[in-house]
Amino acid sequence: MTLNIGVIGCGMIGRDHTRRIQQVLAGAQVVALSDVNAANAESVRQDLAPNARLYDTGEALIAAPEVQAVLVTSWGATHEPYVLAAIAAGKPVFCEKPLATTAAGARRIVDAEVAFGKRLVQVGFMRRYDAGYVALKAAVEQHTGTPILVHAAHRNPAVPEAYVTPMAIHDTLIHEIDVFRWLLNDDYVSARVLYPRNAARSHSKLRDPQVVVLETKKGVLIDVEIFVNCAYGYDIQCEVVGEDGTARLPEPMSIAMRLDAKRQSRILTDWKDRFVASYDVELQDFIGAAAQGRATGPSAWDGYAAAVTSDACVQAQESAGAAVAIELPARPSLYA
Ligand code: NAP
Repeated sequence: MTLNIGVIGCGMIGRDHTRRIQQVLAGAQVVALSDVNAANAESVRQDLAPNARLYDTGEALIAAPEVQAVLVTSWGATHEPYVLAAIAAGKPVFCEKPLATTAAGARRIVDAEVAFGKRLVQVGFMRRYDAGYVALKAAVEQHTGTPILVHAAHRNPAVPEAYVTPMAIHDTLIHEIDVFRWLLNDDYVSARVLYPRNAARSHSKLRDPQVVVLETKKGVLIDVEIFVNCAYGYDIQCEVVGEDGTARLPEPMSIAMRLDAKRQSRILTDWKDRFVASYDVELQDFIGAAAQGRATGPSAWDGYAAAVTSDACVQAQESAGAAVAIELPARPSLYA
């Protein structure tokens, strides 16, 4: 069976996911496209999905009878209404992060899915599908003993001028927020944010770097350095310290060279290259589940938990180092 997918939002990631479905993955095809920027939709159709039908609105695409599953890859603020419409239509929906721009919006999606009675939503937290994180989780669960500490870093070479302090949480830390809940099978109870002096490459509206300290229900302390003007590369680091040993996220494959009297190997500079393979695996997972009318992987509940945690982290950014509590209500049994 070939799953017929409609894509809402034909910008950078919508185009890339369409390419995956059309050229890399098995079991699906893009049959419908929609974007408020009609030129973007037309360009994706021409380049990648010539048989796809263009729809004026995302709502019309979701309602179209030929569309069996939906990808929401539009601008973040538009995700919530599209995901709610897909749930109302009973169609599996893959939503790029964020699930919604507020915790209340994400909660509305959880409530709608629970009322529907079946999981239909997968959130685009692709790190759970990265081979390195999968191996790290296996090592933590099988070898290094009960986790006590996590030391992590998320470094970008540079960010656009419009990137300001809260975006370090919403756009950057959001991936760590999700992947550590999954890695540790745990939830957060508090967040703190600490700042050193501002880096010279930063500006007055961006505190950079910053250190977020998350504490979990099981008592694990996680420190994450976010440094988005680090200059040297795109670098994701993670080390878990357990009762019996430590486990470290593998570096991306890179040829070790001896050159000019130096030992050297390249560091990636573009985040797209770092997780390119995991995007393939996550979407193939979506296709497999959606073909059976259901969803798997990161859930609407995970999207909601990430939104609640993000809100607390942004509050902590403004709390002069004080801890901000993170409280999640009871998890509905749909997400057990
Ligand atoms: P982008 O290049 O700006 O593309 C977004 C597209 O959606 C644009 O074509 C935009 O039109 C269109 N759009 C805006 N409002 C819309 C609406 N109401 N209905 C339909 N289309 C609409 O952005 P992007 O980088 O692809 O990011 C899209 C989403 O994916 C964001 O939420 C982002 O956070 C997420 N993302 C996730 C990852 C990841 O690592 N998982 C990576 C990249 C992006 P205009 O051109 O007119 O604005």
